[in-house]
Amino acid sequence: MQKQDPELGGIKQQHNETLVIHEDGNRDRSVSPPIYYTATFQAENAAEFTEMAETPRHPEYYTRYGNPVHERAAKIIAKLEGTETAMLTGSGMGAISTTLLTLLRAGDHVIAQTRHYMSTAKIMDEMLPKFGVDVTVVEQSDVQAFADAIKPNTKLIMIETPANPTLVVTDIKAVVDLAHPQGILVAADNTFASPMNQRPHDYGADIVLHSATKYLGGHHDITAGAICTSEALAEQIWRTHTAIGSVLSPMDAWLLLRGLRTLPMRVERINANALALAEFLEAQPQIEQVYYPGLPSHPQHELAKKQMSGFGAVVAFAVKGGYKETERFVSSLHLSLNAVSLGGVDSLAVHTAAMWGGVMTEEQMKTAGIPSNFVRYSVGVEHIEDLKNDVWQALQQI
Ligand SMILES: *Cc1c(COP(=O)(O)O)cnc(C)c1O
Repeated sequence: MQKQDPELGGIKQQHNETLVIHEDGNRDRSVSPPIYYTATFQAENAAEFTEMAETPRHPEYYTRYGNPVHERAAKIIAKLEGTETAMLTGSGMGAISTTLLTLLRAGDHVIAQTRHYMSTAKIMDEMLPKFGVDVTVVEQSDVQAFADAIKPNTKLIMIETPANPTLVVTDIKAVVDLAHPQGILVAADNTFASPMNQRPHDYGADIVLHSATKYLGGHHDITAGAICTSEALAEQIWRTHTAIGSVLSPMDAWLLLRGLRTLPMRVERINANALALAEFLEAQPQIEQVYYPGLPSHPQHELAKKQMSGFGAVVAFAVKGGYKETERFVSSLHLSLNAVSLGGVDSLAVHTAAMWGGVMTEEQMKTAGIPSNFVRYSVGVEHIEDLKNDVWQALQQI
């Protein structure tokens, strides 16, 4: 909603801090929104029932089709991303898979990145080919590689930026400028940045995808997904969604809505904490390398500064030493919990090789491109001096 500014006599866009509190629709008497904990909604009469059944994305028909709490949270997310509309799913993978299944058919071609979230990569490598969709993966930092991969049947380019594990950045505008003249859609997984730090639709991305499990929910308590796009595409994707059924429960939608209220504050703190921790790590003698788009040492720092207004929670770094030393470091951290995920209030740290450590030797991991000394740290909202002290004491254990 745009508000009239009496001083300027013009239209003024609300700030994010305000719209996350007010843009989810009219309040009834309850200050906190009610949870519509119901699978189904009754009609007054048969005529109204027909209308409910026939209206796309009706928020009060059947919860797999929609729910008032979903609608409220989605309104805020769409505002934050600057898209016409948004819809919610039961997980980030629900958002990604439902979108891909809607847009693609046998005979189509997709361009994706060499590095994607693990389950997205699995869809690209294993599932889409099974359904007759051809996939080319390209090095995401190389715009020319995207250009070279375009074929007459290319339907979609899927990007994700920044991406695991070394926070490589994709030039969103450059990819959109290649895609659109050829009628190719661009979908961007914006999970790692959050809409507070990057708005891919501003650069022309047609669909912006989120694991709302991360920053948007922000408390490591729900899994949820969001698809932000035009009304027309959302309706198509919604039709698939009603069949696929990656539904978010009304309770989890409510927790997401509650999380959204503090998103701007949380991300502001997280950005500041993560940059400070990245700088601190870079100055420690036990650290081999730090990967953070906000650091001038990041090879794509200039591009990151151009398309991001902050650099997010995830700081990746390599410890001097091997598997054992890295394991000792991660085990010695007290404040950051040893858990996957990112973008929430708690700091989390993962020794990435530990996921394969039980089944691979150090030599095998090296061949597979999994460095044994790699740590992924998602910085939370704790006090930065406490986080630095904790990291410092753990580094002394190496
Ligand atoms: C976590 C994540 C996903 C998957 O989201 P879920 O909510 O776990 O299904 C997809 N993309 C990125 C970049 C993620 O970090």
